Amino acid sequence: MEGCIFCRILAGEIPAELLFEDDNVVAFRDINPQAPVHFLVVSREHIASALEPGARDGGLLASVFNAVARVSEAEDIASSGVRVVTNAGRAAGQEVPHLHFHVLGGRMMSWPPG
Ligand code: AMP
Repeated sequence: MEGCIFCRILAGEIPAELLFEDDNVVAFRDINPQAPVHFLVVSREHIASALEPGARDGGLLASVFNAVARVSEAEDIASSGVRVVTNAGRAAGQEVPHLHFHVLGGRMMSWPPG
């Protein structure tokens, strides 16, 4: 989608450190990490958020959680634990309206989140 920063990363127009990709998703490091390891798993298709009908696709979700596990293992945070978060909409603080899952690890997390 024109003007979408994640679509531009997927198109190779903006650089990102790619960690994983398949037919449905791409994973790359977050530019403003909130933990020692913080990467994003982003749908290739432009879907605004997890609340959209396009997000309810079994193949897509299998790719998301495969990417979460594969990259967490490669980054050596799987054994200690990770937090997987998707913000959907304004009240959740979603800044980029393109479906993505934050994966954070490498430190202890608190709950509830802010
Ligand atoms: P959200 O608030 O859930 O929409 O999160 C958007 C995330 O995208 C934030 O954690 C940003 O740091 C991250 N982000 C924005 N631009 C880039 C970029 N060019 N490369 C990597 N991550 C980005």
